[in-house]
Amino acid sequence: MAGEPQPDCLFCKIVAGGGPATLGRKTERTVAFRDIAPKAPTHVLVIPHVHYPNAAALAAAEPEIAGELLAEAGRVAEDEGIQDYRLIFNTGAGAGQTIFHAHVHVLGGVPMNERMV
Ligand code: AMP
Ligand code: ZN
Repeated sequence: MAGEPQPDCLFCKIVAGGGPATLGRKTERTVAFRDIAPKAPTHVLVIPHVHYPNAAALAAAEPEIAGELLAEAGRVAEDEGIQDYRLIFNTGAGAGQTIFHAHVHVLGGVPMNERMV
C-alpha cells in the first residue's frame, strides 16, 4: 500500500524509533530531528511518518500530511527562535537528494540572502 514503511529506509527506521537520531518535535503524522551534518546553525529535518519518495509524491497522495509538514516546519523555526529561514525539498539524486523518504530541510540562524543553500 502507498505510504507503507520500507525496510531499507533510514527515515522509516527513525520514525519507528529504531534509527540513529535524537528526535525533536513529534506529532501523530510528523517527526522532526536535527540533521546529522548541519549546513547552518539551525538545520532540522521534518519528515512524515508515511513513506513517499519525495515531497511532491507525498503532496499528490496525502495533501493534508504535506500541509502538516509545512506547518511543523514553521513550528520548528518558532521553537528555534528564528523568523527568517529556508525550506528545501531536494528531489532526485541530481538535486542532492540522498534519502528517498520525503523530508523538508529547515535552515536558518545565519543570513541566507546571499546564498542558494
Ligand atoms: P537530502 O540530501 O535532501 O536527501 O537530505 C538527507 C539529509 O539527511 C542530509 O542532509 C543528511 O545529512 C541527513 N541525514 C542522514 N542520516 C541522518 C541521521 N541519521 N540523522 C540525521 N540526519 C541524517
Ligand atoms: Zn521511509
